[in-house]
Amino acid sequence: MRRIAFFGGTFDPVHIGHLTIAERLLEMFGLDEFVFIPAFHAPHKPDRPPTSAFHRYAMLCLATADNERIMVSPIEVEKGEKRYTIDTLAELRERFPDDEIFFVMGADSWTDIRTWREWEKVLTSSNHIVVSRPGYELSTGHVGQEIAKRIVDLRGCDDTRDRLQKGEHIYLTDAVEMDVSATDLRSDLSDGTLDHPDSLPPKVAKYVEKYDLYM
Ligand code: ATP
Repeated sequence: MRRIAFFGGTFDPVHIGHLTIAERLLEMFGLDEFVFIPAFHAPHKPDRPPTSAFHRYAMLCLATADNERIMVSPIEVEKGEKRYTIDTLAELRERFPDDEIFFVMGADSWTDIRTWREWEKVLTSSNHIVVSRPGYELSTGHVGQEIAKRIVDLRGCDDTRDRLQKGEHIYLTDAVEMDVSATDLRSDLSDGTLDHPDSLPPKVAKYVEKYDLYM
């Protein structure tokens, strides 16, 4: 049985926060693989056209090329339409019946989880890892008592391997604190002033420039 984490998102573009989460969780949770799942659909922002899923996919491949345990899955992009996490999770369980699956999200997604389609089923049909994010609280009150019973609070804990439990749980961790956001990066790139160039993996920065994304 392998232990695999899946990290869904827009990744518009993938940044150093996403990559640090992947690297850190691989070690902390003793994962065999960490898989990025870019969504086909990027929410339309009024100030610019949506970035093609193919560009977002390509940037993820460039950013992860050097780490053998970090992969990118086309499972959502190849559908060619918006997909809900509940459906992707069901498909992943079918594809990986013998593996232990973790679904990763940041604290902002966790805060909004009740807006997700069938959110209670999402939270109970797989393991989850919720990663802290500056500016967002890792609260637990909004998910209700029954789901709160599944929460394992690993904040302050560096190596979690002996804290993992049988059955589906929601692990909260503050092992990554990265103040980076794709929204800020897009805004900086469109102004032509990338204040923190280290926030973008070098190959992604080159790709963004080459294809004139976010300008
Ligand atoms: P945007 O600003 O456009 O919303 P983002 O930086 O949040 O972009 P997404 O692709 O939307 O990136 O995020 C995918 C997942 O990564 C989400 O679950 C989000 O919570 C998480 N995430 C992104 N950046 C961070 C960060 N700095 N710390 C923790 N989690 C993060």
